Amino acid sequence: MKEAVLVLKPGKEKSLLRRHPWIFSGAVAMVSGNPDPGDTVRVVAGDGAFLAWAALSPASQIRARVWSFFEEEVIDAAFFGARIRRALKGRAALSAFNDAACGLRLVHGESDGLPGVIVDRYAEMLVVQILACGAERWREAIADALVQETGHRMLYERSDSDVRSLEGLAPRAGPLRGNPAARVEIAEGAQRLRFVVDVAAGQKTGFYLDQAENRALVTDLAAGNNVLNCFCYTGAFSIAALSGGAAAVTSIDSSANALAQFAEHLRLNACEAARSTAVEADAFKALRSLRDAGKFYDLVIMDPPKFAPTAAHAERAARAYKDINLLGFKLLNPGGRLVTFSCSGGVDASLFQKIVAGAALDAGVDAQIERRLTASPDHPVLLSFPEGDYLKGLVCRRLH
Ligand code: SAH
Repeated sequence: MKEAVLVLKPGKEKSLLRRHPWIFSGAVAMVSGNPDPGDTVRVVAGDGAFLAWAALSPASQIRARVWSFFEEEVIDAAFFGARIRRALKGRAALSAFNDAACGLRLVHGESDGLPGVIVDRYAEMLVVQILACGAERWREAIADALVQETGHRMLYERSDSDVRSLEGLAPRAGPLRGNPAARVEIAEGAQRLRFVVDVAAGQKTGFYLDQAENRALVTDLAAGNNVLNCFCYTGAFSIAALSGGAAAVTSIDSSANALAQFAEHLRLNACEAARSTAVEADAFKALRSLRDAGKFYDLVIMDPPKFAPTAAHAERAARAYKDINLLGFKLLNPGGRLVTFSCSGGVDASLFQKIVAGAALDAGVDAQIERRLTASPDHPVLLSFPEGDYLKGLVCRRLH
């Protein structure tokens, strides 16, 4: 078979020389050798110099994603086994990794050298997302390597994220290896919070593992507090606050399914129902109603969905972040804390801080940043791939 070669336009090799794993369509001069979607191509500069081995994605603006920058490396089933072993080794010191009842992310896409591959472990089950053409091409090899390297035999696939359509891939979900159940229980943190993960129908792979350490922080902050948890999903931050001794917790989400799961979480963690109020509503409206009703809280948590998937959406997203954070500050008692997040790749930490500062100013509130938050360490960020640094948070304390 003739080797497929992707030739870059002159001068377009700079980002690859900086080890960035994406090749955009505008940088491509030509592709020879007639490769199929997902096939490995040899990437060369305009002068023919080797740059990388990458997976071709003909339908996507991200035309190719790099598997390796080393010419001697062969992209085969053994390559995927080696990358998965490397990812596992990086997590071996984490307590969640060594605790069979816990959940954690085992493979974090580009940042683990496996573009388009996400693997979350929930107790004995692995949930896999295949999100790009190259990963799709090697799906069976990746599944086999996961079983081989982790010893886990039950794999569930949740390749039903919208981003697959950008790659020309149809959504797919269901058992991938073994006979996995649709739901699995995990324990989290020193508090051993208990959560049921709906791997078949929940959002993403079923649960937001990236917030695990931030939930432990909320447990520490919550004693005696009147708490508002906005965009609560299945109430994980609410359970964390209640286990930390919150006096009362109000939780808001627009998803009835998520709130039904939250009700189960309250029972599972033996939380006193009288301390919890769940509201199914659009948070933008619910926050205004709470303000108009003269409600105040000691701790407000804001963990909205991705308002800006890319930088192109940043402006509209900035208005949405400003709106909810302004209301969040207005609902705070003096001395109270706003724990606020953005998981938008298109809004970086410094822009997010500016938006939150603007929100405090317009709310007429003086506040200080006590902490800056990120995703938990099972979600590492490749230094050459800043896009991987998607989750940022601030703990802001209202001064008076
Ligand atoms: N903090 C959660 C994760 C939040 S994900 C955790 O730690 O598990 C974002 C949530 O926002 C989702 O549950 C989604 O249903 C909800 N959501 C999206 N748009 C919303 C809106 N306009 N109003 C209220 N909730 C919304």
